[in-house]
Amino acid sequence: MNLTRCRFGFMLNGMRALVKTAKGDGNIEVRDIPVPKIKNDDDVLIRISASGVCGTDIHIYHDEFPYWPPVVLGHEFSGVVVETGGAVAGFKPGDRIVAEPHTRFCGKCGLCRAGYIQLCAEKRSPGWGMDGAFTDYLVMPELFLHHIPDSLDDEVAALTEPAAIVVNGVAERGRVSAGETVAVVGAGPIALLSVVVARAAGAAKVFVLGTDADEAMRFPAAGALGADEIINVTKTDGAARIREATGGIGADLVVEASGSAAGVNSAVGSVRKCGRITVLGLPGAEKIPVLWGEMVKKVLDLSFCFSSSVSSWEKAISVLSSSPHDLGVLVSHRSDIGDWKSVFDDIEAGNAIKALFVPQGNNTPSGRV
Ligand SMILES: [Zn+2]
Ligand SMILES: [Zn+2]
Repeated sequence: MNLTRCRFGFMLNGMRALVKTAKGDGNIEVRDIPVPKIKNDDDVLIRISASGVCGTDIHIYHDEFPYWPPVVLGHEFSGVVVETGGAVAGFKPGDRIVAEPHTRFCGKCGLCRAGYIQLCAEKRSPGWGMDGAFTDYLVMPELFLHHIPDSLDDEVAALTEPAAIVVNGVAERGRVSAGETVAVVGAGPIALLSVVVARAAGAAKVFVLGTDADEAMRFPAAGALGADEIINVTKTDGAARIREATGGIGADLVVEASGSAAGVNSAVGSVRKCGRITVLGLPGAEKIPVLWGEMVKKVLDLSFCFSSSVSSWEKAISVLSSSPHDLGVLVSHRSDIGDWKSVFDDIEAGNAIKALFVPQGNNTPSGRV
């Protein structure tokens, strides 16, 4: 066996990785690649504990999102620091961490200078712009790392990146506040994390609107995470039910997390006059028909969210680590990267909430939870 000594003990020189090998639909395989090395003084070598499969990974699989192959997929992860560059001051081997995937940005444009590095035109992230987390080790600059508390286990910690997006969309931009009524349109991982964040921010009542496809796995999870009422819009008019439940007024804040035309328009129908809609769902199509006139007449505030803000990360870690609910219900799969095809198939078929890849040797059983 080919072993190298490092401060953490011994590790292999090579590792298995899930790689998008070339442009086009498909072209994903498990490859043996070298363990990355620290190159810069501010670099940190991280051993991956768990990594989450995101819709973005599925889009890259189908050639529907920018990427630079060959590239190791995966941008949502938790890990442990193994080795640090000479200038790293805030982290040491053994520290448990999560990391913002904003690795490359220009630092010069107006967005970067205003603190919105996640929106920089030069942005490249692990998992599509450079090698990512569906493997054993990753090197990242210290700048992007965050410590995680003991109360947050590795698997829930791997949800920090999507949770940070939700904190950005629901709390920072959606401005949810104590006592409000919130309706979440959609029941996927982002929608379910929206329930968690809305609750943490003090929402008094939270509705979730989903479809028949959400009945088996996602509706029970929504209930376990504190949703007060779950509405199957395949059977019931969700907007009408929310208006009825709020004395004809509507929800203060609607979180659009479905990305569908029907979802967007039930958001418009569910929100009260002078209410807010915050949009997290990525639409499948560039153009969708919207009830624009109704939005004007309702005098709505509309906000959009794409990726996580720098300010959302510590808040997301606090929300996840202090939740009164068992957030483990969000994890539907813990698998080896060798099983990637069946995991991706389950996600595409709607038979998943959040699927995690757990590197071999982390002693977690593989398979559907
Ligand atoms: Zn993601
Ligand atoms: Zn920039």
